[in-house]
Formats: sequence, C-alpha cells, structure tokens
Amino acid sequence: MRDQILVLDTLQRIDMELSQLEQNLKEYPVKISNYESEIEACREKLENSRKIKEEAIKNKLRIELDMAQNEDTIKKSEQKLFEIKTHKEYEALQKQIAEAKRNNAVLEDNLLQEMEKLEVVESRISKEEEELENRENEYSAKIADFKEKIDELKVIYQPKTEEKKKITSGIDRDLLSIYERVKKKNGYVLALAKNEVCTGCNMNIPPQLFNEVLTHSRLIQCPNCLKFLYTESEIKSEAKTG
Ligand SMILES: [Zn+2]
Repeated sequence: MRDQILVLDTLQRIDMELSQLEQNLKEYPVKISNYESEIEACREKLENSRKIKEEAIKNKLRIELDMAQNEDTIKKSEQKLFEIKTHKEYEALQKQIAEAKRNNAVLEDNLLQEMEKLEVVESRISKEEEELENRENEYSAKIADFKEKIDELKVIYQPKTEEKKKITSGIDRDLLSIYERVKKKNGYVLALAKNEVCTGCNMNIPPQLFNEVLTHSRLIQCPNCLKFLYTESEIKSEAKTG
C-alpha cells in the first residue's frame, strides 16, 4: 500500500506544480499586457496634451498675424487721414480705424487666453513626460522580469509533464480515474488518518476500516471525503528514507 500512497503523493505534488505553472503561464502575460497598456495610456495622454499645445501655438500665431495686419491697417489709415479732403471721407476712415482698434482689443483678449492655455498645457506636458518616463522605467523592468520568468517556466513545464506521463503510465487506470475524481472534488487526494479520524474532513473512520489503514493492507478511501488515507508511520518511514 505504501508504494501506491507514495505514487499518488508524488502525482499529486506534480499535479500541483503543474497547475501552479499553468496558472503563472496564464497570469504573467496578462500582467505584462497590463503594464504595457498603462504605459500606452500615459503615452496617449501625453500625445493628446502635445496636440493641444500645437493647436494653441497655431491659434496664437494666427491671432498675432491678425493683430499685426490690423495694426498695419490702422497705421496706414491714420496716415491717410492727413490726405483726406472731405469731412465725410474723414469720418468714414475714423470709423474704420476705431473698428480695427476694437477688433485688436478682442484679439488681444484671445491672445491672452491662448497664452494662458499654452502655459497650463506646457506644465501638464512636463508632468506627463515625467510620469511616462517613470512608468516606462518601472514597468519595463517588471515586464522584462515577467518575460524572463515565463521563459524559465516554459523550460520547467515540458519535463514536468513528461514526469507526470511517466508516473501515470505506471498507475492502474481505475485508480487514476478515482484519483482524478477526488482531486476535482477536494483538491487534495491524500489525508492523514489519526485516532480513527480522517484529518482531511474531520469525520470518524469506522474502527474496522481504520485497522485496515493501519495494516496498510490495501488502499483505503475515507468514506466521507473519499481521500486516500495514510498513517503517521508512513510519513515517518518516508522521512527516514528521504
Ligand atoms: Zn475524510
């Protein structure tokens, strides 16, 4: 019996290692892509701010150009005032000059607004650049770390499945299917039987059955949780043999 218990114990250990490996192999790429998306989100935020900055610069230039044109018009019109002959023409030109000046006052307000916008977005950009750099430094190290781990896990995984194949090939089909059922139901397939109690589920083991466990005559499953029962002496002898 001890041999079978040891084989089941080994199989269980390998199964646990395999399921841990599979879980990590599933989770690590997700972690990597999360880090990558966070970096990407920072980059997009920065790109967006840079576009806003470009737009503000364009607006500012356009306003400055308009203002310069207006200034030019005003200057020329003011010179023309001296050459005007009629009062009517004079008044019309005065009106034109006043309007150009009003326009420029509005443009000046707009210019100030654009300059403020520019100042705000520039300070935001420098913060976002710093944030992106920090994220890139921090996360690319983590990404590299996980990629390395994945490579390591892949190296371990294949031989581990080979090891499992070798062990299962030596186990009776029926026992193997019971093992799979118990594993699916409980996770653990083995339980220590002590003082007529299954330590896997804390239920009493009928005395006659417990005796059979003690004598190691055959594989015994707990009638309640169906785990395979082993005794303390089996652990001790296993510890002794290493
Ligand atoms: Zn039990």
